[in-house]
Amino acid sequence: MPRFTDELGRVDIRSLSLAEIRELVQGLGKEKFRALQVYKWIWQRLIPSFQDMTNISKAFRSEMEDRAFLRQLELHRMERSSDGTRKLAWRLHDGLLIESVLIPDDERLTLCISSQVGCAMGCAFCLTGDLGLIRNLTPAEIALQVAQAERLIDPGERISNIVFMGMGEPLANLDHVLVALDFLLDENALNYSHRKITVSTAGLVKGLRRLADASPVNLAVSLNATTDVQRAAIMPVNKAHDLRELLETCRTLPLPAGKRITFEYVMIGGFNDSLDDARRVLKLLRPIKAKVNLIPYNENPDRDLRRPAEDVVQAFQNFVVQGGIQCSIRSSRGTDISAACGQLGKKG
Ligand code: SAH
Ligand code: SF4
Repeated sequence: MPRFTDELGRVDIRSLSLAEIRELVQGLGKEKFRALQVYKWIWQRLIPSFQDMTNISKAFRSEMEDRAFLRQLELHRMERSSDGTRKLAWRLHDGLLIESVLIPDDERLTLCISSQVGCAMGCAFCLTGDLGLIRNLTPAEIALQVAQAERLIDPGERISNIVFMGMGEPLANLDHVLVALDFLLDENALNYSHRKITVSTAGLVKGLRRLADASPVNLAVSLNATTDVQRAAIMPVNKAHDLRELLETCRTLPLPAGKRITFEYVMIGGFNDSLDDARRVLKLLRPIKAKVNLIPYNENPDRDLRRPAEDVVQAFQNFVVQGGIQCSIRSSRGTDISAACGQLGKKG
């Protein structure tokens, strides 16, 4: 078991799938059902130490300690926005910081989680991209953002939705994201419905196909522009996978019955916010089971990009809806604490 080991050769048990924990437990000569007990302790009870596994013999607990370790994220800072949004900054064991964002909205409480430290995709409008890719998160680090946020929210609150829209490109870390999704979905672990989980990508087509084949979770694709010239100007990924390839992939993905792909569209004033753009959105997405989510650009001092006026966003939405495609506007939340889309990882 070479993956995720520390300097003592012990394995990060929270990054192992249930099948891999079974192998570990059976390797120690224990009954197979012990693996499920361990798995529940580490994901449902979030025990800090193997010694807390009270239905397991002391000898076995000590053997586990020799072979494996249990780690959690360290809460570095929690900031609360005037609109109720909370930004959680987590310190990883190697000192790096990542962020998750809790966003309350009517009946929902959405947790936006990170999949990488930084991001290699280099989208021109996004501050996370400025960091470059520092490293992938492990399966444990991805799923712990959820398990630990559950324990930090106010009494009476419950996380209803999880979106992979924090720092990083999830499909560039798909092996670890798939293991983390198992933890989120498994009734013996965090037990979320696939209907409540959304993975967002800048457009890595092979990853999209692999993810759709492997998991029923919701898919979101950051479209952001309607011609190859315009999209390549803000998203370098478009040079590797152009609109035709991306949209043909989306059209032919095996989606679960009733599901649609969400196309996110960051609206930048004077760049991609005209009714001609809206017309092209309709033309591009008509063949696809699609819905559109408009994200008015979150301005920041490091970029010379502007958010369009509200009536421009409204007119764009109306045009898309009248063209027969469901279209919502994402209200921007937590901007006063730099917790909004594209603001994560901002220094300071
Ligand atoms: N890497 C993935 C998921 C994280 S980014 C992806 O790109 O899809 C999540 C969303 O935030 C993307 O749709 C991205 O286009 C959007 N975004 C990035 N910077 C933004 C900004 N400054 N204002 C508004 N949306 C932004
Ligand atoms: Fe990475 Fe997404 Fe930001 Fe692009 S928008 S740089 S893919 S996090």
